[in-house]
Amino acid sequence: MSINILNSSKSEVKDAESLRQLQYIEKAKEKVAALEKKLGRKLTACTVTFGCQMNARDSEKLLATLKLVGYEEATTENADFVIYNTCTVRDNADQRLFGRLGQCSSFKRQNPYMKVAVCGCMMQEQSAVDKIKKSYSFVDLIFGTHNIYKFAELLDTCLESDRMIIDIWKETDKIVEDLPVLRKYPFKSGVNISFGCNNFCTYCIVPYVRGRERSRSPKEIIRECEKLAQDGVREVMLLGQNVNSYGNDFKEGDPDKISFAELLEEVCAVEGLRRVRFMTPHPKDFSDELLDVIERNPKIARHIHLPLQAGNDEILRRMNRRYTKESYLKLAEKIRKRLPDVAITTDIIVGFPGETKEAVDDTIDVVRKVSFDNAFTFIYSKRAGTPAASFEDQVPEEVVKENFDRLLKVVQETARSQAAKLSGRTETVLVEGVNDHDDSLLTGRMSNNTLVHFPGDKKLIGEFVDVRLDECHGFYYMGTLA
Ligand code: SF4
Repeated sequence: MSINILNSSKSEVKDAESLRQLQYIEKAKEKVAALEKKLGRKLTACTVTFGCQMNARDSEKLLATLKLVGYEEATTENADFVIYNTCTVRDNADQRLFGRLGQCSSFKRQNPYMKVAVCGCMMQEQSAVDKIKKSYSFVDLIFGTHNIYKFAELLDTCLESDRMIIDIWKETDKIVEDLPVLRKYPFKSGVNISFGCNNFCTYCIVPYVRGRERSRSPKEIIRECEKLAQDGVREVMLLGQNVNSYGNDFKEGDPDKISFAELLEEVCAVEGLRRVRFMTPHPKDFSDELLDVIERNPKIARHIHLPLQAGNDEILRRMNRRYTKESYLKLAEKIRKRLPDVAITTDIIVGFPGETKEAVDDTIDVVRKVSFDNAFTFIYSKRAGTPAASFEDQVPEEVVKENFDRLLKVVQETARSQAAKLSGRTETVLVEGVNDHDDSLLTGRMSNNTLVHFPGDKKLIGEFVDVRLDECHGFYYMGTLA
């Protein structure tokens, strides 16, 4: 893994809070150096990330701080500092965390100097914190999503304390710029454009654990993109829970108040960037202005992830999604017409309370009509604290399973036939790395997000190359350099 450090020198830092955190990095560095001297070896740190792209981005920031204070990155949890960045969107993420913490306790027994931290969305739930306090009392540090920017300070305190430190904030209106970030790839990077969400879909915990929507200033976003481009990044992904409502929280008359479409166009103008992605647009806020911008900017990836969640109006109403089957279909049709080379992918939940067989038929109907290029299908998972958790008409497991299988079959059919349409074409791909299963092959990603594997020299990693798509294997291609 190749890693670069951004914004780590004080001279580049403008934000007072990030300066304060850099001072804590210096203090923590001294403590790590002293412990290294005592143990006669380098200290190691491991980040374990559950959940979405936002968490992955947060973990890059956590790892940056750990490296700056002197830890070497470890790939296993048998390390001197282990941090779990948790997710709470699905129930199994909770179970996975507790399983991992159980294993971690044996490492900690062997290494008295080991520190264990848990952060992220799940820690915004009191019940999860209580469980850790009761059953995993060896954990040294717990913090939430709103104060992640204080990690250096918390780390410094943790390094000099023998007691469990818990720092959870209910909310924040703060965005701290200029914190150090370590990127996993030298050639591509996520860029946060907003944090939190105001939509309150009834099944979703995000607005409660990530807070209300806060947009970053467009100037800061562009500054970050320029810095990334100067650093060799060629592809950025703009990240927000609902990118389409970017800037809605700025007051009228605020010079920062621009739409997501305008921001996207400004990002496209950054010299050096060749591809721009975004994730996730909410269908209810998808504007014609955004379609115009995508149409006239070839740098914008030909991929739109447009979460459907359900295709039945009553279920959509109960989910508080604020669109209907018809309006979603109209939007998808408009996208297909205006941008025929764009792949449309989606998320679908099966088994939401009250979902009947007929309601699932409506969802299947949307899948067929839109012909999604791919769909991530999830079984509804009841999240404590969300309105839907108290809905009485929860669907029995066997019914959910049957509906899920029916839906999955159609999803796979449409995805396969969409993918096969590209056979024989030559596409420009960003080479992301060596193939996971066969190191004579490289793996590249097309603009529409489809992967292609092809023979090639490792020197091409991070480059854009043209690849002929020889053979479609369902969701990916085998190809040859053109
Ligand atoms: S838009 Fe809905 S599903 Fe997405 S983060 Fe916000 S509340 Fe959750």
